[in-house]
Formats: sequence, structure tokens, C-alpha cells
Amino acid sequence: MLDLNWNDPHLINADLHCHSTTSDGTLTPEELAARAAANGVQMWSLTDHDEVGGLARAEAAAKAHGMLFVPGVEVSVTWMGNTLHIVGLMIDYRDSAIEQGLASVRSGRTERAMEMSRQLEKVGIEGVYEGALKYVGNPALISRTHFARHLVERGVCLEVREVFERFLTPGKPGYVPHEWASLPQAVQWILDSNGLPVIAHPGRYSLSPMQMDELIEQFIGLGGVGIEVVTGSHTVDEYREYARRSLRSGLKASRGSDFHGPEESRVNLGELPQLPDGCVPIWDNWAKRFS
Ligand code: AMP
Ligand code: MN
Ligand code: MN
Ligand code: MN
Repeated sequence: MLDLNWNDPHLINADLHCHSTTSDGTLTPEELAARAAANGVQMWSLTDHDEVGGLARAEAAAKAHGMLFVPGVEVSVTWMGNTLHIVGLMIDYRDSAIEQGLASVRSGRTERAMEMSRQLEKVGIEGVYEGALKYVGNPALISRTHFARHLVERGVCLEVREVFERFLTPGKPGYVPHEWASLPQAVQWILDSNGLPVIAHPGRYSLSPMQMDELIEQFIGLGGVGIEVVTGSHTVDEYREYARRSLRSGLKASRGSDFHGPEESRVNLGELPQLPDGCVPIWDNWAKRFS
């Protein structure tokens, strides 16, 4: 057991959000664990999109590096016409309840990807589905990120971000709307597997302040318990904004890099600022879970 400072949980280096080759990351669970440990992470979670298939390997690797492991997942959700992500932390990932739900969310991805490819063909870019498949580590989980990597390789764009801006976001030629899990479903699957539902990177959604209030209220009503405050997808101003919302709503604060790979991610594993003062870290009462 690591000797962590549970009296001041803010000092624990927790990174509770990242992706492996089991979804749209470029490193394997073992490579991520090694990188996290080298960067001083003490408590680590792998949160692949709609998929728990990498968690057993991640758990073994985390233990070998002396890190506490938090089994996680990031569920894709459609809420009032917006795509949102809900992270589940501390899930019993061997439980079939969550796996069934996640399998249903994953099931439309291949058809969506083929439609994206057909749409891109119409603007003169052919064979993108086959090209994207070369980047896929898990055949059940083809994502827009794999398309983006392939289009960079083809020289259509210089970087992944540019592919999203020009082709893969609403209104752009390769964007195909998709119906993911509902918010109640995602929260319930996480609760059913004894996990803690957390709103991922709230600053990334195109919601008005009133819609964000509404989301948080509904989320709490369904049993949600946390919100990401310090994440690789937030600006410093957003750290402050969501720290305020965390305090106001009673949702506990989470922290995670959302690392996808050395070439693409702005924030490295474990290299995030601490949560702002006053926030209650979602891990503040986890000592007993690890004892
Ligand atoms: P999907 O689940 O297939 O819709 O893909 C969503 C993933 O695309 C996210 O988890 C990010 O990894 C990535 N993504 C979304 N928007 C952007 C963006 N603007 N720039 C780079 N990556 C993005
Ligand atoms: Mn992703
Ligand atoms: Mn996300
Ligand atoms: Mn993520």
C-alpha cells in the first residue's frame, strides 16, 4: 500500500481520465501505466470510451508500478441533442451489467463510421473507412479520432485538431449525427456497477449557463456525484468556473488529463495543477477502498 497523504487529499497526484489503444488512445494500457508512474501519478484511472476491455491489463500494470488503480470508463451520451461524456469511476468492471450497456452504445459505431466515409467520398476523399481501420486497436471501437489520424497521414490536414474543425464536427462534411446512451442510462449503468458517475470536461460542451445548470440538476437527481474541474480539456478560467459549480452544486471535483497520446495531447499524464482550494476531491474518502 502506497503511503499517501489522506489527511490532505489535494496533495495526492490523481489522474482519473485517459485513453488507451482499447479506444482512441495511441498507447497500450501498459505503456500508459509506465508513463503515468514515471510522471509521479499515485492514483490512476483508465477511462476508455464505451469500453472496459483494457482495465484488467491496466490494473495489473498499475499495481506493478505501485499506483492505486481506479477502474473507469467514459460513456458517450446524447442529452437534449448534444453529445456529452459521463465518466464512471471505481466501477466493478467484471460485472456484466455495465458491459451489456456499453456493448449497446458501441454497437452503432461501425455503421456510423461507414456513413462518415460515404459522406467524405462525396467531397472527394475516398477510402477513409479502410484507412481509419488501420489506426483502430479495438474493432468494436472505431472513433472520429481514428479518421482524423488517417486524414493527417494522407496529408489532407496537418494535425488531428484541424481534421475535426474542417471535417468531423457538426455542419462539416464528414460529421454524422449519432444517438448515444441517454443520460439516465449512462448514470444507471455506472451506479449498477457500484461506480461514481462524473460529468466529463463540462467546459467542452456548447451549452448555455442555464442548460449547464439544468444538466447538473438532472445529473444529481439521477445519482451523479462528481464533475471534472481540472482536466486537459479545460482552460485555467474553466478550472475556476467549474470549481465554483462543483462547490455550489455539491458535486465532488475530479482531475484528469484526458491523455490520448504523446503526439496529440496538450497535457501529459499526471502533469496537471492541483484542484482549486475549497474543492472537495472526489477521492477524499477513498482511503478505505484501498486499505
Ligand atoms: P467519437 O466518440 O467517435 O465521436 O470521438 C470523440 C473523440 O474525438 C473525443 O473523445 C476526442 O478524443 C476526439 N475529439 C473530439 N473533438 C475533438 C477536437 N476538436 N480536436 C481533437 N480531438 C477531438
Ligand atoms: Mn477520445
Ligand atoms: Mn470526452
Ligand atoms: Mn476522454
